[in-house]
Amino acid sequence: MTKIAIYSTHAFEKPYLLTANQQRYELIFIEEALAADTAILAKGCKAIAVFTSDDVSAEVLKKLKDEEVSFVVTRSAGYDHIDLPVAQELGIRIANVPEYSPHAIGEHAVAMMLALDRHLIKSDKKVKRHDFTINDLIGFNLHYKTVGIIGTGRIGAVVCKILFGFGCRLLAYDIKQNEMLISKYGLQYVPLDQLCRESEVITLHTPLNEHTTYIINKENINIMKDGVMLINTSRGKLINTAEVVTALKSGKIGYLGMDVYEKEKPLFFHDYSKTGINDPILTELMEMDNVLITAHHAFLTNEALKNIADTTLDNIHCFILNQSNPRQIND
Ligand code: NAD
Repeated sequence: MTKIAIYSTHAFEKPYLLTANQQRYELIFIEEALAADTAILAKGCKAIAVFTSDDVSAEVLKKLKDEEVSFVVTRSAGYDHIDLPVAQELGIRIANVPEYSPHAIGEHAVAMMLALDRHLIKSDKKVKRHDFTINDLIGFNLHYKTVGIIGTGRIGAVVCKILFGFGCRLLAYDIKQNEMLISKYGLQYVPLDQLCRESEVITLHTPLNEHTTYIINKENINIMKDGVMLINTSRGKLINTAEVVTALKSGKIGYLGMDVYEKEKPLFFHDYSKTGINDPILTELMEMDNVLITAHHAFLTNEALKNIADTTLDNIHCFILNQSNPRQIND
């Protein structure tokens, strides 16, 4: 039976992957992340499945090639963790899961907006220590507020639709315009600086690439409204976290919701509750009441996990049977 190595396997995804496999392949579940020293574990596997936390850099791809791995499928939409030009050079084919549930991530982004705006975490903590006072819990209505959506692809479109229901004024910045969002939800595409100037809430939904790295930085933070809310469920490096911390301290940024962090790799998905962490920026953010941090789990719904597993196994199947696959990223 053809062997497939599944790197960075989490307990929560195993049953979904086993069901999707339908006993077609021998799945080798590896808890360790893919890295230069764990590539050897793929010995005898024609294909491997990875996650965003795996290192699929040039060095690692060369080691995988030595082990005769021909296909790498990522159990994610984003593939900025994979060195595509080197994969192309080595003849390793790559596929992703472009659309497993934009609703999972879009709803998480909106959940963060509401939790921050209505001080839900603080309120819950107070109630559980029998403090039922509400003087410090004043929020604001999302109704009639201006929300700037940076990136109106699959996830940004879901956020647009949900916030239209809340009665928000919707601005967007994207290199491509979605006419349906303009006509159906009154979304208005504007330059990035105008979006920054006019929005009370800004939410990020672009991929990470050379054009979007640090798309939120001190220059455009300076022109934002005082007390603006910033939500990032996309990729950590879209925001310059150190500059955002400075703006949080001065009150320029009023709220930050982040499901992703630019230095999340050694931390997220691991339990450091006994040892603590050594990350001064994240530690500073964790101490702020107006900052809500989740550890990259916007995707974590039953529906999304089923779709990720089904599409991952389908990607593997297409590669093994040499069938054409619209989700293949390189030739
Ligand atoms: P998508 O490809 O459907 O949409 C991305 C949008 O960004 C497109 O409309 C594109 O035109 C726009 N864009 C690209 N480059 C741009 C630029 N330079 N300036 C402005 N706009 C630009 O992607 P999606 O499915 O909506 O996902 C968006 C991102 O969300 C993914 O790339 C991934 O990084 C992230 N994501 C996070 C999680 C999570 O669990 N937190 C899960 C899935 C995806």
